[in-house]
Amino acid sequence: MGKNKYLFVAGMLFAILAVSMGLTTLYAGFSGQKPQEKEITVVTSFYPVYIAAMNVIGDAENVRLENLSEPQTGCLHDFQLTPEDMKLLSTADVFIVNGGGIETFMKDVASAYPELVIVEACEFVELLSDGDETNAHAWLGVSEYRDMVQGIAEGLASADSMHEPLYRKNAAEYDDKLEKLQEKQQDVIRKLSGKNVVLFHEAFDYIAHDYGMNVSCVLDLDEERPVSAGEVSGVLSAVRDENANLILAEELYGKGVAEAVQKEADVTVVYLNPLNRGEYEKDSYLKGMEQNIKLLQEI
Ligand SMILES: [Zn+2]
Repeated sequence: MGKNKYLFVAGMLFAILAVSMGLTTLYAGFSGQKPQEKEITVVTSFYPVYIAAMNVIGDAENVRLENLSEPQTGCLHDFQLTPEDMKLLSTADVFIVNGGGIETFMKDVASAYPELVIVEACEFVELLSDGDETNAHAWLGVSEYRDMVQGIAEGLASADSMHEPLYRKNAAEYDDKLEKLQEKQQDVIRKLSGKNVVLFHEAFDYIAHDYGMNVSCVLDLDEERPVSAGEVSGVLSAVRDENANLILAEELYGKGVAEAVQKEADVTVVYLNPLNRGEYEKDSYLKGMEQNIKLLQEI
């Protein structure tokens, strides 16, 4: 009997243990209905890529989107990564860049973080080029930007398959808005197509291309720099000899030279937004481009 009683107690203890273990498992099963996802950090190289990624990511849970410190003015040309940027990249799972060579620091990033997944927004975009140099400012062409958004969606979908349907849905919704933006360009295309223009930032090559304008002369003023008399006379001869009486410029760097040219020749200057910086809002690109369309419409 004594032995049986001992066995009975042991059996009861086992049963209690088994039930409580079962309950624990069951509880874990309930609380685990929403498994704790690991947070994913996505870093973008600069403004237009950030805005595109912001639209693709939308409200995806546990996805953190950050941008590099980036220059406060101008594009990314010759930008050097800061120690903060390197620190940020050390936490990144995915790094989305524009591509086309505008991120000159990519070699450093690839060697410092060989595991980092790099998505190149322009990978499948046909970039404009002036012979030997590729023009990476593709975001200013709406078709090119639409392709960039799809490229970002593809890259994110394969890096983070859990959110794949959401990324694709968000990208498609954003693409609808971009398609409407292109429709708004149509009147201006009819008006400006075939016109000879002078550009004061090579980025505007994509704007000229969108509207079917011919580029007679490019004076690349993407930074504070002295402009030689030879460059100004080059602009003046394009204006006079090729009837390129429209200048697409950027207010920040183009104003001084544009005013000097306007003293010598009858030209119209339009100050456009190159969208290489601005408000960090989802619709910033749409708003900036709509404003550019409006400015071109008013010529
Ligand atoms: Zn630039």
